[in-house]
Amino acid sequence: AKLSLSSEFNQRIRVCVRKRPLSRKERTNGELDISQLVGAHTIQLNAPKTKVDMTPYTEQHMFTFDEAFDSDTSNVDIYNRTARPLVHYVFGGGKATCFAFGQTGSGKTYTMLDPKHGLYVMAAKDIFALLETPEYDHLSASVGFYEIYQGRLFDLLNERKQLFPRDDGNNNVVIAELREYAIRELKHLLQIFDHGSRSRSTGQTGANDNSSRSHAVLQVLLRDKESKSIHGKLSFIDLAGSERGVDRGEANPKARAEINKSLLALKECIRALDQDKKHTPFRGSKLTQVLRDSFVGDSRTCMIATISPNHSNSEHTLNTLRYADRVK
Ligand code: ADP
Ligand code: MG
Repeated sequence: AKLSLSSEFNQRIRVCVRKRPLSRKERTNGELDISQLVGAHTIQLNAPKTKVDMTPYTEQHMFTFDEAFDSDTSNVDIYNRTARPLVHYVFGGGKATCFAFGQTGSGKTYTMLDPKHGLYVMAAKDIFALLETPEYDHLSASVGFYEIYQGRLFDLLNERKQLFPRDDGNNNVVIAELREYAIRELKHLLQIFDHGSRSRSTGQTGANDNSSRSHAVLQVLLRDKESKSIHGKLSFIDLAGSERGVDRGEANPKARAEINKSLLALKECIRALDQDKKHTPFRGSKLTQVLRDSFVGDSRTCMIATISPNHSNSEHTLNTLRYADRVK
């Protein structure tokens, strides 16, 4: 593995969109695929609408991103073009964050945290390989896994203990008492991850909500073996579902309001980062407070907006694309 990054990937912020395939159920229900890639960067959405007199028509929307991945793109390909450059960046001594953003069911967890194909699994393989090389054998890796639910942090590797972030005075956000495990092999990481996933919050309406109302953060810290100082930090974030609850009779309006607030704050922070603004509004939410050290200094961010292709989700899909477009 080589460290040099092609300039294509050496942007502070990369925003990509990923379209998932129609599910079998959607096909059975006769749902149409209303999104279509145009080249490697642009996605077109043909959103169904009805006029006041109930005449149906479609409205076309085009969005251009750093990259647009079609429904047949594998996680390996996506990894190579999103998180992989971040792994190298972090070994070079930086901080990087990879987000999945989108409505529930659009493929965030599949992309980011699936224990078979998720980007974090591929990143872990590369990290272990790099740690074996003479250049990096002075470093060690550890993993922490927590969620942000209703503006509070819970340790997924320590019985949902509530956690509090603070600043170490060195431009690092330290989450006091976060349980961290030293990791040396993939098998171990997968066990830890599996354990943590089982502790994720289940909303009031049952197991289906498992992950849709909280942000999950899997963070890998690289430390100098001797001094224990932080060399680099890589975070994988599976954001809460971006749908606005109101239109589906939200079971938990408070949790939804908190999610909306944090997604808005996230957008503002990424925009500020891109525009080199002096003041990044990271105090806007717990999510952005925790990520503050990823927004200041020379950090790298990759946002993967995941979308469902089917027509009945067109409103949510349009919202996701608009959000990603504004982040850019
Ligand atoms: P989210 O985390 O955004 O709620 P999931 O990742 O759970 O969505 O995806 C919803 C369903 O769609 C899951 O069954 C998942 O396996 C499937 N899925 C998502 N993305 C893809 C993809 N790119 N290819 C195949 N199946 C996918
Ligand atoms: Mg999910």
